[in-house]
Amino acid sequence: MASQFQQEVGRRRTFGIISHPDAGKTTITEKLLLFGNAIQLAGTVKGKKTGRMATSDWMQMEQERGISITTSVMQFPYRDRMVNLLDTPGHEDFSEDTYRTLTAVDSVLMVIDGAKGVEDRTIKLMDVCRLRDTPIFTFINKMDREVRDHIEVLDEIETILKIKCAPVTWPIGMGKAFKGVYNLVTDTIHVFKPGQASIVPDDVQIQGIESAEALALLGEELVEELIDEVELVRGASYEFDLDEYLAGTMTPVFFGTALSNFGVREMLNYFVEWAPAPIPRQTNEREVPPTEEKFSGFIFKIQANMDPKHRDRIAFMRVCSGAYTRGMKMKHTRIGKDIKIADAVTFLAGDRSAVEEAISGDIIGLHNHGTIQIGDTFTEGENLQFTGIPHFAPELFKRVRLKDPLKMKQLQKGLQQLSEEGATQLFMPVNNNDLILGAVGVLQFDVVQQRLRDEYKVECIYEPVSVNTARWVYCTDSKMLEDFKRKAADNLAIDGGGYLTYIAPTRVNLSLIQERWPEVEFRATREH
Ligand code: GDP
Repeated sequence: MASQFQQEVGRRRTFGIISHPDAGKTTITEKLLLFGNAIQLAGTVKGKKTGRMATSDWMQMEQERGISITTSVMQFPYRDRMVNLLDTPGHEDFSEDTYRTLTAVDSVLMVIDGAKGVEDRTIKLMDVCRLRDTPIFTFINKMDREVRDHIEVLDEIETILKIKCAPVTWPIGMGKAFKGVYNLVTDTIHVFKPGQASIVPDDVQIQGIESAEALALLGEELVEELIDEVELVRGASYEFDLDEYLAGTMTPVFFGTALSNFGVREMLNYFVEWAPAPIPRQTNEREVPPTEEKFSGFIFKIQANMDPKHRDRIAFMRVCSGAYTRGMKMKHTRIGKDIKIADAVTFLAGDRSAVEEAISGDIIGLHNHGTIQIGDTFTEGENLQFTGIPHFAPELFKRVRLKDPLKMKQLQKGLQQLSEEGATQLFMPVNNNDLILGAVGVLQFDVVQQRLRDEYKVECIYEPVSVNTARWVYCTDSKMLEDFKRKAADNLAIDGGGYLTYIAPTRVNLSLIQERWPEVEFRATREH
């Protein structure tokens, strides 16, 4: 018999949503919360679009974007599961945090706009998922519109994202003629009734594509069309295989419309069944199973607090084993100190409240006054370090210039500390005194500028710099590494953590240098 603790862990489903902006992530999140009874009426989750950003105050920026700590993690019960949905910022607030959040989940829901198919942000996010072979559910959205040929979209997913598609539901009609979805596994029609977008919709089902009810609902022509289409789909796609899904090589595909609230529940019902419970996590010493009773967890994100009265930061921790209880002592393994955690925050039903207990798979927020960094491990005493929570190579770079040159020390300190929070990275070229800031999302530059002003009393400006991408350099042959360092010195830098990086002016330059130095490794991620 599994203990009560093991059963509780087995109930957890911790996931994030990946999508291109505007595919419908916010809308689907809202519907998931509706089904989880976490909100009463859909339409209450704040939108995130504000157009142009004012740079007046970064706190205000957060408010304008409607982003708050409470939407960072949403926990809700559904059927006999406890679901943890981790927000993966996507619009202006897209950043390295988005990537790193994907290291803290056990599975992912990919939302695709049925009219657009696979878009570039989704490709990038899939690359991150592939680092850990994360299992992926797919929801193809906006069936209430005239969308693209579905088989073509599946084809695109298979060829571009390199994952097999196993459609589980199939849409019946689209746009104004959208009638519902057909379940290919159970031969059931789920009937769409318009006008139920913000409530839990009626669950009308018809058993059998060839039944009298199906005929009455759809008419002879549509039924025949559907039968033909389903035959085609079955021939052109894969049958769902749980092992392949869990290995990250196959994705079950569902269709629907988040806005009109249809097909989401049909997907969610399978999600809570098939998506993995918390999985074991690797450390430098050993694998930690989620059912281990001793507590452990790692930090994957640090967010400055939005409350102007409390300038603290919240460090988000993924619990990997055991339970957090209020007031417990944890070992901060990087600095080797025990600390007492009296006031962690949790996120039940989207509310930030003091947490009494959180177990494997859950997320808690720790108040951080500067001692906690991304990637830090906390345990009940054992000296472990969780691995696989990397820095990702930035995609945008700017040179930082001081307005007052006498404040160089403060600037360096500020940039260094803000980099430790993980949303930006600092690079110091070996051949000059530039300070280069790198980020994955464009908004981070504004945030850094603002926080340097507020928290470090430093005014800085940005200048363009000819860096296109960065790679961390490794080479086991020390003689060759020295040789490389000499020859490539103009494009080498030391990052905020003291690691050697190659800052490439162009992609072509990077390819050339990789070809020229086959023994040197150029990594796109770096472990903490
Ligand atoms: P996000 O950027 O991925 O979070 O996307 P949102 O959820 O904010 O949706 C972007 C836009 O698409 C909004 O205007 C939504 O109302 C709209 N939208 C979302 N889902 C659907 C859908 O199923 N059908 C239609 N027609 N529009 C949708």
